[in-house]
Amino acid sequence: MNKNISHVVLCGDRKKKLDKFNIHVLIFVLYHNRAIAEFLSRDLSSQLLPEDVYLTVGCTQAIEIIVSVLARPGANILLPKPGYPQYEARAAFDHLEVRHFDLIPEKGWEVDLDSVEALVDNNTAAIVVINPSNPCGNVFTYQHLKKIAETAKKLGIFVISDEVYGRLAFASNPFVPMGKFSSIVPVLTLGSISKTWIVPGWRLGWIVKNDPEGILEKTGVVDSIKNYLDITCDPATFVQGAIPQIIERTKESFFSNIIGIMREAVDILYDMIKEIPCITCPHKPEGSMVVLVKLNLSALEGIDDDIQFCLKLSKEESVIVLPGVTVGLKNWLRITFAVEPQVLKEGLERIKAFSQRHAKKQ
Ligand SMILES: *Cc1c(COP(=O)(O)O)cnc(C)c1O
Repeated sequence: MNKNISHVVLCGDRKKKLDKFNIHVLIFVLYHNRAIAEFLSRDLSSQLLPEDVYLTVGCTQAIEIIVSVLARPGANILLPKPGYPQYEARAAFDHLEVRHFDLIPEKGWEVDLDSVEALVDNNTAAIVVINPSNPCGNVFTYQHLKKIAETAKKLGIFVISDEVYGRLAFASNPFVPMGKFSSIVPVLTLGSISKTWIVPGWRLGWIVKNDPEGILEKTGVVDSIKNYLDITCDPATFVQGAIPQIIERTKESFFSNIIGIMREAVDILYDMIKEIPCITCPHKPEGSMVVLVKLNLSALEGIDDDIQFCLKLSKEESVIVLPGVTVGLKNWLRITFAVEPQVLKEGLERIKAFSQRHAKKQ
């Protein structure tokens, strides 16, 4: 969005004509940024401003920008394990060192805060949290998020909160945005319309600054984000233009309907997984659209690891699940439940049949 404006400024000889355009662009920017700021502020204690919002080409570009901005020689970033592999891929590309902290399955995939403390040094820039979680399917409690914020403050790092599944919480823990704790520690919130509005192809996301003390401004992070935006591409203008309508006219019933569908899917999934001996689910999903389950290889014959399990399953049963190694946990499986109940049942029946066929003979 900033780029649009500087373009106009650059075309000096046609300035008069373009001044009008400039004003249009500015109003346009205000409209969609304000819509996003107001939408996200509903769950916060303080009001976000349009200037706190930076538009990106989906959450994927938000990740790309944040990682690039932090990639200085010697710097490192803390990422969750298991996590979303886009962060690792981007960090490798930008030569930013990655340090992994654990999420604990027995504790509902909470962050192992002791392992976080042990990882940090003077060159650590930030910690990434994904809530609701892909790949784990959990939703952090208010108390746990506060503890993460306090730990980050103590360690002198800021928080990057990937809330691309924001609001998609369907169990007892409500979705709490990390921005709620911005008076403790600065937070950059990443999000998009892909998952919450179920339009993954529309490629519109955001980086939102929750930083009442202006700390990120002082460290130069905000300027770097703006500079990056100046030299990259924007989301398609017609999607930008549609944002106020998409956000303001989406009724609460749209979200509650999706949440109802997800809840039904999770119940089917959780019950049917209990009938598959080689798979255990340590924590019933509470949010997002995915779950991580443990594969017990000792119950199987002729299958050495999660990759082999997934390859054979796709070949024999035409069911696709993701090997856990791709999200940081070898011999686990990530299952997506964002499918029709009937299809989900059929898929799980096929996984069961597959497991029985490959079961170790007693
Ligand atoms: C899907 C996803 C993204 C990317 O979102 P897009 O808006 O589709 O680019 C980022 N983070 C997580 C955790 C995701 O699951």
